[in-house]
Amino acid sequence: MEKSNQKILMVDDNIANIRIMKEIIGDQYEVFFAKSGKECLSIIHSIKPDLILLDIMMPDMDGYEVLRRIKVDERIANLPVIFVTTLIDDKEEEKGLSLGAIDYIRKPFSIPIIKARIKNHLELKSHRDKLEKISSLDGLTGIANRRKFDLQMEAEWRTAVKYRHPISLIMIDIDNFKLFNDKYGHLAGDDCLRDVATKLSDSLNRSGDFVARYGGEEFVCILPNTEKKGAIKVAERLRTAIEELNIEHNFSSVANHVTISLGVNSVIPSLESSIENFIKEADDNLYKAKKNGRNLVYYS
Ligand code: GH3
Ligand code: MG
Ligand code: MG
Repeated sequence: MEKSNQKILMVDDNIANIRIMKEIIGDQYEVFFAKSGKECLSIIHSIKPDLILLDIMMPDMDGYEVLRRIKVDERIANLPVIFVTTLIDDKEEEKGLSLGAIDYIRKPFSIPIIKARIKNHLELKSHRDKLEKISSLDGLTGIANRRKFDLQMEAEWRTAVKYRHPISLIMIDIDNFKLFNDKYGHLAGDDCLRDVATKLSDSLNRSGDFVARYGGEEFVCILPNTEKKGAIKVAERLRTAIEELNIEHNFSSVANHVTISLGVNSVIPSLESSIENFIKEADDNLYKAKKNGRNLVYYS
């Protein structure tokens, strides 16, 4: 059978159990192991497993506590967790499920049954991942959509507050795009939006940088851990990149090709700062870029 690329993290303090599981499913899935709850929590973010098989009785930190900690960490809270345990009391099973485990398997287990359950849960996970991906993407351009932007913005904002890092935002709007549509047609307008989106996306270098379609012909970039000076540089690079696409626009008030205006805002946010104000200031700067002649970067 072909090996799946889905990853399973098994957490058990008993090395014999780990060996058995490796034998049962090691040829079908990529399987990682942790011998304590602590080890599990320290490697979970780098592994990003699709399924966790969690023992309950372990020294130091038991499986219940591991699951509680997973559930309060939003980055991993939705990972499916199956308890695999010798605790056969119904009360224990109820406790495990009510903490948010998706399944509870009692040891000793039947090999075909545990294989089937793992397969089912991984299939569900794969469907959820696909849906999550589709609901995050803009249908026309293929880059992130507004919904994903809102989620990403909140997550990056929280990180910036926590570590007192700067964060920057670039609001982008295509210049005279109504005229482009009016003169070249809506389909050409759609093509233009796709090309601009791809170019913006390709022009961001850092892995944490993020671009989304904010609405109609507006885009937005989040630059985590980036102060104003850097953000202005990136914005200028984006502006140039779109000019260099050289999409004909003979009816623009700015040039004979498609251009964008950009508003930049940067902040080191505190608990008192608000995302809404942060976005609004970037938007105000975009408006000023328009007022000052378009095809330029404005910052305050
Ligand atoms: P400005 O330079 O001030 O931004 O002028 P503008 O014409 O770009 O701005 P305006 O907001 O007046 O027009 C935006 C236009 O964007 C309106 C609409 O025709 C076009 N547009 C918005 N969404 C889409 C889309 O999904 N496809 C196409 N083809 N056009 C779109
Ligand atoms: Mg607009
Ligand atoms: Mg516009």
